Amino acid sequence: MKLSFHGADRGVTGSCHLVECAGRRILVDCGMYQGGRELREENADDFGFDPADIDLLLLTHAHLDHCGRIPLLKKRGFRGEIVTTAASRELARLVMLDAAHLQEEEARRDSRHGHRHGHRHAAEPLYTVLDALDSTEHFGRTAHYDQPMELANGVKATFLDAGHILGSACILLELEEAGHRRSILFSGDLGNAERPFLRSPATAPNAELVVMETTYGDRLHKKLAPSVTELYQALNAAFARRGNVIIPTFALERAQELLFYLREGVEQGVLPASMQVFLDSPMAISATRIFERHPECYDEQAAELFHEGRDPFELPGLHFVRETADSIALNRVSTGAVILAGSGMCTGGRVRHHLRHNLWRAESSVVFVGFAAMGTLARRLIDGADRVRIFGEKIPVRAAIHTISGFSAHADRDELLAWHRQTGEPERTFLVHGEEETMKHFAGLLDPATVERPQLGEVHTI
Ligand SMILES: [Zn+2]
Repeated sequence: MKLSFHGADRGVTGSCHLVECAGRRILVDCGMYQGGRELREENADDFGFDPADIDLLLLTHAHLDHCGRIPLLKKRGFRGEIVTTAASRELARLVMLDAAHLQEEEARRDSRHGHRHGHRHAAEPLYTVLDALDSTEHFGRTAHYDQPMELANGVKATFLDAGHILGSACILLELEEAGHRRSILFSGDLGNAERPFLRSPATAPNAELVVMETTYGDRLHKKLAPSVTELYQALNAAFARRGNVIIPTFALERAQELLFYLREGVEQGVLPASMQVFLDSPMAISATRIFERHPECYDEQAAELFHEGRDPFELPGLHFVRETADSIALNRVSTGAVILAGSGMCTGGRVRHHLRHNLWRAESSVVFVGFAAMGTLARRLIDGADRVRIFGEKIPVRAAIHTISGFSAHADRDELLAWHRQTGEPERTFLVHGEEETMKHFAGLLDPATVERPQLGEVHTI
């Protein structure tokens, strides 16, 4: 039996791990590297294995950094079966199609730019919408939380609620090869127990080997309640300056959570009822629909709300912005608007247009409510850049920049440690999905004799 590492190794994005057992090759996640343009090449790189040899792809959840290279896998020969939860299947489809669309757009833009500079070759997208659609045909059996599935001879998988985003799971693999048994637990991304809607992560089962994320392995989150208050204060301060508020947001989960809190703020009279909220993301709008179809993923309180027929995401001044022309029209709004747009790390999507129109205005605010990887525009702004480049244009940063960490969809250091303790005393723990320094710090909190920080391409016999 072998375990090898093909992404999110000493980095936060691109999750991809391979297990080989009893003649089967099982991939856990196939995510995209996210960050600056330089990561494009990493995404286009060889996987380090032949996609045609993969029998099963188990998907922990639908975030792009976990499912974003599935269409590329398909394009390069994958013929296996994708197994995941029902909610993840729907969300992953949405995420992959959106990514394909963005890449096609970017390739077209680069080709135009290339032509102007005398290059004859058209830029190629990593994969197309057609590739993404093709890959969705490989979704097979549906995983249900806590129900072991016999996926192949010697390969049993159990999906456990990870409490991270809708449908998210930790995956326990129980393997057997020629009488040799092994259990491996993949954390996927672990949720932050305080958040609304979702249940807290399920108690981790014992496992001999653990592959776990370390995104926030070196810090503690602020509490949620003060973070919500901070959000309301940031909004009110911008309104008082007669500016707008831009919130770069992931379309899944975070967007819906924000709508939930904005609605509460208006209902409690903490936010002005005249506030205009623009959800400028066709994807977030579609994601909201998917949420409504999967109440089985909710905690008790949210399930009850849905049951009563109340829409927790609806508020008086809410506008869904689907068309590009309507998004562009928002440039004319100079005050009182809250614009929620993707991408969360500002690496693509409509938010960059809104930043271009608001960053230079001292009366506006930009509120970051999610993780931003090194090298991304979001990270540069969070780190205090006084000017940034957007669409080739240098924009001075005069807007107020707020970073509110309490909304994180990820477990913090103590939650990660508590989860790890639940796994018993694993023989080995492989740390993935974290920045190098964070990972080192977290490794120091575990038994050093059992911790590994694998490099890309590393193969372990298990
Ligand atoms: Zn995630």
